[in-house]
Amino acid sequence: MLEIDALSSGYGGPPVLAGVTLRIAAGEIVAVVGTNGAGKTTLLNTVAGLLRPVAGRILLDGAPIGGLPAERIVRAGLSLVPEGRQVIAPLSVEENLLVGAYGRRDRKGAETLEAIYARFPRLKERRRQPAGLMSGGEQQMLAIGRALMAGPRVLLLDEPSMGLAPLVVAEIFALVAELKSRNLAILLVEQNARKALALASRGYVLEAGRVVLEGPAAELAASPAVVAAYLGAS
Ligand code: ATP
Repeated sequence: MLEIDALSSGYGGPPVLAGVTLRIAAGEIVAVVGTNGAGKTTLLNTVAGLLRPVAGRILLDGAPIGGLPAERIVRAGLSLVPEGRQVIAPLSVEENLLVGAYGRRDRKGAETLEAIYARFPRLKERRRQPAGLMSGGEQQMLAIGRALMAGPRVLLLDEPSMGLAPLVVAEIFALVAELKSRNLAILLVEQNARKALALASRGYVLEAGRVVLEGPAAELAASPAVVAAYLGAS
């Protein structure tokens, strides 16, 4: 579904991402873990079209999407839930959701809105409320709902657990598991390596812009190097 080959990108200086190769299939959750500054956000932003690749290929169902404008990548079936959620605080919950359907050509926006409300009753209850007044967990639900409004086949999630209480994190992770069962391909970036690897089927460890380890999530979670670097204190 999503194939990333030897991808490099950055911010004009030395590449931050240096030759990353990664794959995700439909119905699969793949975790990318790594410390602060490893390049996880840079990877997602490049795949989503917010940053231009310097080298390498990105294929969505075999079609190249690397370097396309972000809105065309969304239309091709790939949506990003950005780090920090980035809901538009003064707009209502419903307006934020409708932003996610912008550019859809199949005119199924209304139907999707009903589907999102069915899945997230709290968003429906609060649909007229400014998004900025919602709790962190609700804003994360809204950010995921907004991404789903585009009807994606591939979903990129950037640190969805960040700053949330453990119960809320459990709720978000349960939602991600449910999306997987609906056959989405999900790339989950997390500093919470233990939780991410427990949810994912496979994982990649990113260090200084390179993949240093990859494999079945359970194997990574048990590997002494990963435990020492990422799981020891969590
Ligand atoms: P974090 O969990 O802190 O977000 P990360 O693994 O997602 O970490 P990135 O945000 O991708 O890491 O950052 C990787 C490197 O790119 C860091 O060295 C960072 O300083 C640099 N970087 C990030 N954003 C920019 C930017 N807008 N301009 C220049 N350098 C940047």
